[in-house]
Amino acid sequence: MTEAAKFRVVIAGGGTAGWVAAAAIVRHLGPLLDITLVESDVIGTVGVGESTIPTARSFHALLGINERVFMKETNATFKLGISFENWRREGDRYFHPFGTVGRSLPLADFQHFWLSARERGFGGDYTDYSLETQAALAGKFATGEPASLSYAYHLDATAYARFLRSLAEPAGVRRVEGKIERVEQHGESGDIAALVLDSGTRIEGDLFIDCTGFRALLIEETLKTGFEDWGHWLPTDSAFAVQSETTEPPVPYTRAIAHGAGWRWRIPLQHRMGNGFVFSSAHLADDEAREQLLAAVPGKPLFDPRLLRYRTGMRRKSWNHNCVALGLSSGFVEPLESTSIHMVMIAVTRLLQNFPLRPNMSALADQFNAQSRAESEHIRDFIILHYKLNQRDEPFWHEHAAREVPDSLAERIALFRESAMAYQGSDDLFRIDSWTSVMTGQGVYPDDYHRLPGLMSDADLQKALGDLRAGIAHRLFGLPSQTAFLASQFEGAAA
Ligand SMILES: Cc1cc2nc3c(=O)[nH]c(=O)nc-3n(C[C@H](O)[C@H](O)[C@H](O)COP(=O)(O)OP(=O)(O)OC[C@H]3O[C@@H](n4cnc5c(N)ncnc54)[C@H](O)[C@@H]3O)c2cc1C
Repeated sequence: MTEAAKFRVVIAGGGTAGWVAAAAIVRHLGPLLDITLVESDVIGTVGVGESTIPTARSFHALLGINERVFMKETNATFKLGISFENWRREGDRYFHPFGTVGRSLPLADFQHFWLSARERGFGGDYTDYSLETQAALAGKFATGEPASLSYAYHLDATAYARFLRSLAEPAGVRRVEGKIERVEQHGESGDIAALVLDSGTRIEGDLFIDCTGFRALLIEETLKTGFEDWGHWLPTDSAFAVQSETTEPPVPYTRAIAHGAGWRWRIPLQHRMGNGFVFSSAHLADDEAREQLLAAVPGKPLFDPRLLRYRTGMRRKSWNHNCVALGLSSGFVEPLESTSIHMVMIAVTRLLQNFPLRPNMSALADQFNAQSRAESEHIRDFIILHYKLNQRDEPFWHEHAAREVPDSLAERIALFRESAMAYQGSDDLFRIDSWTSVMTGQGVYPDDYHRLPGLMSDADLQKALGDLRAGIAHRLFGLPSQTAFLASQFEGAAA
């Protein structure tokens, strides 16, 4: 194939989504493609999105990323799950860990054994049987044996985009700085033909990837794809974000702390703390939200809190004509379970698996869109779950508890309440352990559970659970603190 005949991929936007796409596509299909990324320093990026889930590690493996170098460049820390504080009611806390909880049998998942033990008076908490929870709460961390923890990262979003750019550009991605002023379409097909920049430069392409964030310049402003609004299920629409000086060693987990009209996050990095305050503007005025955030920030703020407004929902199609939307341009569900970057990574991976070397392939696009929808709806349901099951006192929370939820979620809650059953479908991100952690963390104790544990005597069940706890203690024994581990990591890391 000659240079002139190369299939042209144009990525509009250079936030996390744009550079994730650029780095992955050039690494795997680079020689077949001509890849251009357009970004505007004047417009900038959303600048948040700093907590990830373990799928980031598989994605990094796909890109051949060296973990130590990545961590150094992005000031990253390790994450073992999320601590949910005040969600059920004020003063309450539960943990949603990565990794498995307890040990399941082929015929009955672990929660049935735990519930049986609990009824007999010796079960403890569900996450007592989670290695990651116990390591997180003890502030311990190490990769590899003996603990073999399941983990993800907290990272500096701006540094992450810069890091990915440092991989993508030398591999062949052409970066063009400038503001996209106009998007040209082919007369007959309506496909996107070119981006026209404020400098007058025209960038033609065969496939366009819209990574322009909430602006959605290509997929919405140009192609009018449509947006499915989920605001009636998830009514937070605003967030203040501010970084602050570090006051204590970073904990290996994200904190999600409920407040009267939403929740706030704490994401510890090596060099600073990321703080955010998610709220419903119908329930809290901006200046009050800003004040409440600042009052809760542990160290000195590094700048004035930045207000972000968003709409919860998804684009009717992520792939429309010859345009694929990734990241915020494709939709947004609030960051409670840190799923947005995951959604970018999984969509880029799917695009690579189905890479269209012809501009318009409608069956492929339909398949891509169906999978994106299934994944987004699953995540949406999981997030709504946290709100639905609250027992807090404020109007914002009362409304949530009373609100109708999607049928798909109502069925899951009913199933769990009735029988302690949870499941993970083929497009589902969250595992049975995740559903169980949040359901029980939010105070749902099922009316019944599997009969299998009933075959075990108290002594046998107590021994089985004791062995699990002892196994966890054994794997944690001698594990360093995250701080000590981070220090050991950077000795000798490449610049
Ligand atoms: C409050 C909040 C908290 C979040 N927390 C998390 C989290 O903890 N974990 C997580 O996984 N995700 C989180 N997210 C989501 C995460 O921030 C995004 O998924 C991620 O940053 C990707 O953003 P993006 O690249 O799509 O958009 P952006 O970062 O907004 O990038 C858009 C790009 O398009 C460019 N652009 C736009 N218009 C033009 C134009 N006219 N011409 C040229 N260039 C243009 C911009 O310059 C920029 O480069 C959060 C989001 C919000 C709002």
